[in-house]
Amino acid sequence: MARLEEQKISGSGEGRTMFVPPMEPFGARLIAAVFRSIGYNAEVLAESDETLALGMKYTGGGECVPCPTTTGALIKAMRDRKLPPEKVIFFMPTACGPCRFGQYAKLDSIIFEKLGWGDIRIMSPSAENAYSGIDNSARMRMWHAIVVSDVMRKLVMKIRPYEKNRGEADYAIEELVRKMEASFETGRIAPISETLSQAVDQMGKIATVPTRKPLIGIVGEIYVRSDPFINGDLIRRIEKLGGEAMLAPVSEWILYTNHLTNLIVREQQHGLMATLKKVRSWLETNFFFEKWEHHYYEIAEPLLHDRREYPIDRVMEIGGKYLPWQFEGEALLTLGRAALFVTHDKADAIVNASPMFCMPGTITSSIFPKFEEEYGVPVVCNFYDGSGDPNQSLVPVMHYLREEIAAAV
Ligand code: SF4
Repeated sequence: MARLEEQKISGSGEGRTMFVPPMEPFGARLIAAVFRSIGYNAEVLAESDETLALGMKYTGGGECVPCPTTTGALIKAMRDRKLPPEKVIFFMPTACGPCRFGQYAKLDSIIFEKLGWGDIRIMSPSAENAYSGIDNSARMRMWHAIVVSDVMRKLVMKIRPYEKNRGEADYAIEELVRKMEASFETGRIAPISETLSQAVDQMGKIATVPTRKPLIGIVGEIYVRSDPFINGDLIRRIEKLGGEAMLAPVSEWILYTNHLTNLIVREQQHGLMATLKKVRSWLETNFFFEKWEHHYYEIAEPLLHDRREYPIDRVMEIGGKYLPWQFEGEALLTLGRAALFVTHDKADAIVNASPMFCMPGTITSSIFPKFEEEYGVPVVCNFYDGSGDPNQSLVPVMHYLREEIAAAV
């Protein structure tokens, strides 16, 4: 059976192919590159209507859509390439907490067992198992991959809506992400910084047309808000409707889990062990997470001076107006970031993107009407399950926002 306790995979993956879920297009590619840097044969899974249908076939129907879409993508990749299960590693991070994400890897192991694929290894790192199964230096470079992919996505999102020659930003960023993959494959940090400097330089040279467009902040569940396949290419849809989008970054979740652990220790634990945990967390935050985050945003400063990240405790503090931090999970972050998008970045509207039946998404969508009154901006709560066109709801909102801006000029 593909048991989760068998996560420790020695050396370079024992000749297996590692599949990384395609949550966020740039980030997944850079994470796969980190695995390749330590000898894994790693690649990003492809999603399509067919993979989603396959995933739906093998899951129960009530799971949130990130579960069937990742499971189906793996099943299709294995079938198409006739890969024996003993030659496959599935990278499926997990988390403990109140919602279903922690169950995905467990459900996958049951599905694989039923398919007779019990020999698949599921690498399922989480804060709870100290991210076991991943080589220590690679684990560190994953943070670099997450931050750098957030920064690169922000670069293209900042330029593309205003580019003079259509397609230039996409063309440039694709080349730059390829270079960045190669930089991560070296296993060294210096080439990553160099490539990012080049990216900032190149993206800054793209000719743009200065104009005011509605600025839309995207918040919500991390997989759906980040995955263009599942969210109907939400960012580009906003751009096609005449707006500029800002997206809550993937790094937010890592910083949040680190900060949350700190808060839990402070509240529930005392004595020497608690002190040691606090010191460790403080060191990690200041000398690793924030240090590198600042480093990469400094490189991107010429273009992203107004798209820097807020401190995570600030996001949680504002989200805490609506829900106590002890509630745990994404709802607090969704609300806190939405408020900061409006007050700090002057977003004209918010899109709250969640999988159908998502628990945090359902909670936040019930709070957002109050938020709309408080902040005076529209909030569109979209739920996605891979069917229909939930983004159609943006059409009238974008129309009125464009009209408002035109009237103000
Ligand atoms: S956050 Fe939402 S989509 Fe993600 S596991 Fe929890 S309920 Fe499912």
